[in-house]
Amino acid sequence: MSYAESATPAYQAQSEQAQSDQAQSEQAQAARLPANHLFDTVLPVRPAAVDRGSVERARPGMVEDLLANKETLALVLAGRQALIQSNQLFMPAAHGLLERLRELGTAADHVIYLGAAVPESDLPAGTEIVLIILPGTVEPGAAGIPSDAEWAGFRDIAAVLNPTDTALFVEASAIANWHATHTHCPRCGVPTVVESGGWVRRCPEDNSEHYPRTDPAIIVTVMGPDGRLLLGGGGPLDAKNYSTLAGFVEPGESLEQAVIREIHEEVGVKITRCQYLGSQSWPFPASLMLGFSAITEDTVATPDGVEVTRARWFSRAELQAAVLAGEITISSRLSIARSLIEHWYGGRIMDRADT
Ligand SMILES: [Zn+2]
Repeated sequence: MSYAESATPAYQAQSEQAQSDQAQSEQAQAARLPANHLFDTVLPVRPAAVDRGSVERARPGMVEDLLANKETLALVLAGRQALIQSNQLFMPAAHGLLERLRELGTAADHVIYLGAAVPESDLPAGTEIVLIILPGTVEPGAAGIPSDAEWAGFRDIAAVLNPTDTALFVEASAIANWHATHTHCPRCGVPTVVESGGWVRRCPEDNSEHYPRTDPAIIVTVMGPDGRLLLGGGGPLDAKNYSTLAGFVEPGESLEQAVIREIHEEVGVKITRCQYLGSQSWPFPASLMLGFSAITEDTVATPDGVEVTRARWFSRAELQAAVLAGEITISSRLSIARSLIEHWYGGRIMDRADT
């Protein structure tokens, strides 16, 4: 999930004048990008780890067939936790697993098709993976789960997972969260039936189909006329955490309109230009973070006091110094927020833990 490793070389040695020059050249570069700049996102976006088989999964009985296949692997999720062993997802053979769990008194809530591993993934190509969602955790050491496996949440483990495990954990969390909160038909209120390998819910009463939801949210680095970065934070005024500004896209709004509205609402700053840089799925519970860099001519930021209580401009040198001094903390390397900040910075920002 961290894009930081591919950020451009370190910036620290450059002078404030050079920083201003770089800001201007970044603006000039942004101006040259073509309008249909769809595939060359500025932040590197990882390719998919699995083929989700959106046609194949529609076949009734597909999941049952996969459960009967001894090669199929199961990602097991309970609440927001997955089974981890040796800093990897522990994915046992799916065959017979549901039966062993039932013998322990645990019936799975859902079995959902996650996809088949692609050749570029960290799994053998073609490995089929299903998600088994349990109503609660089961004790490692039972049902064929090794006693040294343990349950872990995404944030606890994401920093050490390989890209394929990360992608699977994210996909599993997203679809599990949707099922947990969309059990009934929004039109008539009756319980819906799961279809298409877990990717559709159908109402047996009015036959309406319901698809997994993703909530788009913009997340933005705002740069002032002098090249400084505007970061904000919520909560107590003396809190140390600062991050990019962010907010949900409203119905009927373009992403760019959302950037302009949200930034103005949160810190009273008028955005004059913005550019899409890349995205990150953040299914906690259902967000898709759409990263932008934006430019303002304003130099005064006024927090709304609700979502944002603190706002502060940083030069590159000031930001790095404040982080190293422990004066502030910024978003972790798991987040697109950090990638956006480091994109502005022009390289990796050192944390105190790095020194
Ligand atoms: Zn209905």
